[in-house]
Amino acid sequence: MTTHECDVVVVGAGTAGCYAAASLAQDGLDVVVVERKDESEAGHIACGDALKGADAFPEAIPKSRIEGSFTNTGVDHGRFELPAHDTVLDIPVPGELAVIDRQGFGRRIIDGAESAGATFHYDTVVQDVLQEGDRVTGVRGIRKGDPVTYEADVTVDAAGALSILQDKADLDGATFDTNVSYSQFCSAYREIVEVPDPVEWDDALVFKPTQRAAGYLWYFPRTSTTINAGLGFQMTEEPMKLVHDLRADLERRPEFAGAEVQDKLGAALPTRRPYDSAVAPGFVAVGDAAGHVNPTTGGGIAGAAYAGTYAAETIVDARDDPTEAALWAYNERVMDHFGGRYAGLDVYNVLSTAVDVDDLMGLLASLPGEKLAEALYSGSTSMGLALKLKSAIKSFGYWGTILDFYRTKQLAEELIDRYDAYPSGPEGLSAWQAERDGVMDRVYETTGADPKY
Ligand SMILES: Cc1cc2nc3c(=O)[nH]c(=O)nc-3n(C[C@H](O)[C@H](O)[C@H](O)COP(=O)(O)OP(=O)(O)OC[C@H]3O[C@@H](n4cnc5c(N)ncnc54)[C@H](O)[C@@H]3O)c2cc1C
Repeated sequence: MTTHECDVVVVGAGTAGCYAAASLAQDGLDVVVVERKDESEAGHIACGDALKGADAFPEAIPKSRIEGSFTNTGVDHGRFELPAHDTVLDIPVPGELAVIDRQGFGRRIIDGAESAGATFHYDTVVQDVLQEGDRVTGVRGIRKGDPVTYEADVTVDAAGALSILQDKADLDGATFDTNVSYSQFCSAYREIVEVPDPVEWDDALVFKPTQRAAGYLWYFPRTSTTINAGLGFQMTEEPMKLVHDLRADLERRPEFAGAEVQDKLGAALPTRRPYDSAVAPGFVAVGDAAGHVNPTTGGGIAGAAYAGTYAAETIVDARDDPTEAALWAYNERVMDHFGGRYAGLDVYNVLSTAVDVDDLMGLLASLPGEKLAEALYSGSTSMGLALKLKSAIKSFGYWGTILDFYRTKQLAEELIDRYDAYPSGPEGLSAWQAERDGVMDRVYETTGADPKY
């Protein structure tokens, strides 16, 4: 058995882990990142490869380091294909958008964290946490076949969706959110496909509802001839045959005739609100391991980068005694930056489990694109009277859905307000949760959806 001692052990060399490690190392902490994959596979992650908000990424890893992996920066809108309604909707996406070579990006952020001074241990599978009472004191696992332990002041769980660390740790005495179940996740699969001729939509992220179950297909152009094609469905729904269903759609599209598959990967991603608290004594969860994904688009790279950075900055301040209260500032920064907004967007996910998908798509086809973009990215939207009337005429037939949507939108806004009042310490969490749950009860009542949490 080998034992390593360090200030911070980070589990997972994905986006959250690399940004956390880079920031911690820059502040002079001794940080080890443990990753189950080998060095050549690290950073190879199932993803749609769309990167939103790249212009405003945290500085822990300079943008100049990652830019080389941006293979398509000409993308500026979403293209929603709604075949059942014979409609294609072009919706602008605010902020900088790029489609990236995900493995290249993964490699570059590892290099960025390494240059900042972090140490990487590959081929190391974490199997358990070390704990003294309530406090997490490190992890244990297998490195290249040999048992290994890492003793650390703080353990950062950056191990992605459904992280094993949270199954193993006893977090009952902490505020750490354990109200997590598979039904709050999406199962997704993607292929990188090379097409013989350039596609016409190389300036768009293409989305399309799947035929069965509430899910969607996507086609994201890495270049005009290299396409990331994938699909996912919410795990509350009947399972889809992901590989089969993707293949069926590819075969229907003439632009994919003669295409060659270069790479295939699948994974789960959280499509839920962020964890109410992602800290416990000596323990912080970041990125997918704490639900930091936009639950309506599935975009999680930006949230992971920010969460990793915020966690690192908080750990630096709290390292002498990393109690829950000392680490709390991390929760506050996440909720303030994107947590409240993502919780608001999650309300629309709840609605989509209760509303007929066809109705929802019909509604989508009848509403103005820019208003949908606003709703999709900010969690709320407002519409002038003239536009409301115009949309109302167009959307005749979906008025029941519109009414549900309107009421749900009001509740989403109320929920975002609750997140603005997120408590400033662990002692305020349960009272805050009770008020927030009151809003959620009204969401379930209004939408008719089964409770998600
Ligand atoms: C199919 C799919 C498509 C997606 N498309 C997009 C998109 O287009 N845009 C976007 O922004 N987001 C997208 N996402 C989400 C995005 O990929 C994630 O939100 C993001 O990668 C989260 O980063 P992370 O660092 O938290 O976790 P991950 O990237 O999952 O990294 C976790 C790391 O931990 C390692 N690990 C796990 N368990 C252990 C263990 N026990 N021991 C040691 N190491 C371990 C893993 O090997 C991995 O390297 C998509 C996700 C999926 C599944």
